[in-house]
Amino acid sequence: MDKRLLSNRVKVMPESATLQMAQMARDLKAQGKDVINMSLGEPDFDTPEDIKDAAKKALDEGYTKYTPVPGLPMLREAIVAKLKRDNNLDYNINQIVVTNGAKQAIANVCLTMLDPGDEVVLFAPYWVSYDSIIKIADGVPVVVYAGIDQDFKVNAEQLRNAITNKTKLVLFSSPSNPTGSMYSKAELAELADVLKDYPDVYIISDEIYEYINFDKGHQSIASFDFLKDRVIIVNGMSKGFAMTGWRLGYMAANETIAKSCIKIQGQFTSAANSISQVAAAYALNHGIYPEMTKKFKERRDVFIKLLKDIPGFKVNEPHGAFYLFPDISYYFGKSNDVDTITDSVSFAEILLKDAMVATVPGTPFGAPDCVRFSYATSIEIIEEAGIRVKNCLKNFR
Ligand code: PMP
Ligand code: GLU
Repeated sequence: MDKRLLSNRVKVMPESATLQMAQMARDLKAQGKDVINMSLGEPDFDTPEDIKDAAKKALDEGYTKYTPVPGLPMLREAIVAKLKRDNNLDYNINQIVVTNGAKQAIANVCLTMLDPGDEVVLFAPYWVSYDSIIKIADGVPVVVYAGIDQDFKVNAEQLRNAITNKTKLVLFSSPSNPTGSMYSKAELAELADVLKDYPDVYIISDEIYEYINFDKGHQSIASFDFLKDRVIIVNGMSKGFAMTGWRLGYMAANETIAKSCIKIQGQFTSAANSISQVAAAYALNHGIYPEMTKKFKERRDVFIKLLKDIPGFKVNEPHGAFYLFPDISYYFGKSNDVDTITDSVSFAEILLKDAMVATVPGTPFGAPDCVRFSYATSIEIIEEAGIRVKNCLKNFR
């Protein structure tokens, strides 16, 4: 093959580990294997019927054309109203950009703000795509790791130590993918206090799991007035409204950043899907769908119990999202008659091969001692998965 065929950018980039594991699980299923797929971070619920009806109506009303790049005014207005209603934050519609999923919002911001060599402080464990998106934009991730002993949350001292004169952005999610941990207002205040000393550092606050929180505890770091202008909120419809396939996200930022993201997006993809936009406006005006969150909480409680019952697992107790991220390093170096678990990758491979349970190893999340289980599935399946994992690991000594 011609060595020059592919760019270095793509050659060094890993495939998305979440999407890769999900595809492996789908392939095994297609071969008739009885796989339990706990790899993909996707609500198992269908999109609520009233949101689907809004989309059908949009089609009938002729929303079939390009919309303005930053989104339909009615959707941008709905986002402004949502930010006021749920987060008590004041924005105007010029600060809102509607994107093809939250993923694109993060890419827009990184491409808009980073020059080669600019550093992005990345709180680990982090969602797999952050690292690659930063690198695509020629940025340098500076990883700050918070382990299970600190509930996977970075503290003020760690943040301060990571900031240099090249730092341009700080990036984290709360509730977090992959840990489900959530920063309290007091914890955010400590981080904000550090950032007060660095007026050139901006923050991407990924709040896509906002509605999937179990104790009404979601807080945005944009709620600190002195910081708000430097925070880019990223959010979207995929998780809270079970709309992953609709590809609709959004961001809220100061007007300079928002305008530049619109310019980038205008060259890359144009506006998001028109029908999804109308449905999203309906959904955001309607508000949250609490039944789904209630179910996620029940499932979390069942699954925590099951995982805690497995020897060697250290299990976190998240307050949001739909993941458990146990530390499974106890198994490193242990073998059954056939295989040896050497790291989180071989751990996940063996669970898939022997227990037919698909997970995602912690390594691509920047947490090599852990493995991610998505419990966005029924209680029956969660219970079956718990039994399978326990039985499989029993043989490793
Ligand atoms: N951020 C986080 C933390 C996520 O888990 C996801 C999941 N896909 C996204 C962003 C992107 O979501 P989407 O592009 O589907 O809106
Ligand atoms: N965010 C989800 C996950 O972490 C969806 C897949 C992806 O886009 O990474 O599994």
